[in-house]
Amino acid sequence: MKAWGSEISEGDSFARSWRDECGVFGVWNHPQASRLSYLGLFAIQHRGQESTGIVALDGQAHHIKKGLGLVADVFDEQTLNALPGTSAIGHVRYSTTGMNSLNNAQPLTAHLFNGPVAVAHNGNIVNAEPLKQELREQGSIFQGSNDTEIILHMIARNPSSDLLQCLKGALERLEGAYSLTVLSHKALFAARDPMGFRPLVLGQLEEKFNDRPTYVVASETCAFDLIGARFVREIEPGEIFWVDETGEHSIFLEKKRSTSRCVFEHVYFARPDSVVFGESVYEVRKRAGQILARETAVDIDMVIPVPDSGVPAAIGYANESGKPFELGIIRNHYIGRTFIQPQQSIRDFGVKIKLNPQMAVLKGKRVVVVDDSLVRGTTSRKIVGLVRSAGAKEVHLRIAAPPTRSPCYYGVDTPEKSQLIAANQSLESIRQFVGADTLGYLSLNGLKSAVRGESGGYCSACFDGKYPTELFGLDAKPKGNIRGI
Ligand code: AMP
Repeated sequence: MKAWGSEISEGDSFARSWRDECGVFGVWNHPQASRLSYLGLFAIQHRGQESTGIVALDGQAHHIKKGLGLVADVFDEQTLNALPGTSAIGHVRYSTTGMNSLNNAQPLTAHLFNGPVAVAHNGNIVNAEPLKQELREQGSIFQGSNDTEIILHMIARNPSSDLLQCLKGALERLEGAYSLTVLSHKALFAARDPMGFRPLVLGQLEEKFNDRPTYVVASETCAFDLIGARFVREIEPGEIFWVDETGEHSIFLEKKRSTSRCVFEHVYFARPDSVVFGESVYEVRKRAGQILARETAVDIDMVIPVPDSGVPAAIGYANESGKPFELGIIRNHYIGRTFIQPQQSIRDFGVKIKLNPQMAVLKGKRVVVVDDSLVRGTTSRKIVGLVRSAGAKEVHLRIAAPPTRSPCYYGVDTPEKSQLIAANQSLESIRQFVGADTLGYLSLNGLKSAVRGESGGYCSACFDGKYPTELFGLDAKPKGNIRGI
């Protein structure tokens, strides 16, 4: 279940133990560049809620505002007024590498040989450790513990005076996932790793300034919808796109790789109103639900989603099965960071703080409950319990994704393998653990047909353990940032 723009307090028994990765945004040639960035970041808030930042460029000067928390908490009129300039980049972060601290909040900035440079990164660089070691040996000092700083150091150490060549040289050495926005006083760059793990899209505003178009770059197209920008195209895997005074340009990295777009963007991460990797996320999720219904049919009275992220798949399931779609669980959207946990002496609200099952809908019914994914199983167990407690006669759990069996090293902060229930238990013992009458997952082939990626082109390592890059020992280390529910 996604915390759409809201956050869950530390003590919440329903807090997630792993999080979304990050989101990036960029604007070139607009008098309100930082305000557009603010709106763009607001639209992609679901991709990270721990810290956010905007860097605006006004001539040669960087104006920077970063903070811990949500976009709406960190920025206000005053802070946005203090970010003048016609170009800006922004970032929302959940730490996939490095602890959450202001030092790790992005965009990262530096004053390099030819002026100020800012970088915002979504993804995870799998050879970060060996590269950091090499840079340290050459004298680099790292301020934070994230992998993005490496890019700035490698740019700084390149003898060329041409920022494009320095950036290209740095990116050629990276392995893993990166969708980047980079801002200098001369250009806005947008770059995507050669495997295209994370999305990155290019747009334009209809109105022009100084007779030139305004360019925007974002992790997801939903950011364009909010600011009224037109989707132009995806930044291609391996592409460095840039726009400067002379117009738009593009080159490709020499490193060639086969495409490995993250299938989990479609399963869970991206907003359903975005078009990701050329496909509507909503339609993909609905198709996944339809295929799931065919693959795991059962005699029931109604289909109910786990709100919000299970909704499109549940619609697909209901359409295919011909059974009614009902809102059997209602979600409270107002659980903010400051929510005060009720003391145990009053009551253990548990999952009910967020989700309330409707007895009027569920009593005496045989229901299919559809969720987007099942990872540790603890959420599903609570949800199945809720639905039963509201009087459902049979509870059949259906998951619109295959069993999650392997951790992600490309920007999704998943628990380590020992905590992934499907990596360690059979279907039957998972069913018993969650307490459902039956349990059914979407097959990997089913998911591939839903994303229309039968011919390949997707990374599904979290489901099949086939990592498309070398892991540089990451799989041998304990995964960081894991919080218990
Ligand atoms: P679990 O209790 O671990 O099985 O949690 C499954 C729930 O977590 C599902 O409702 C998903 O919507 C949600 N989920 C899946 N992946 C993530 C993620 N990377 N971050 C946060 N929530 C997630």
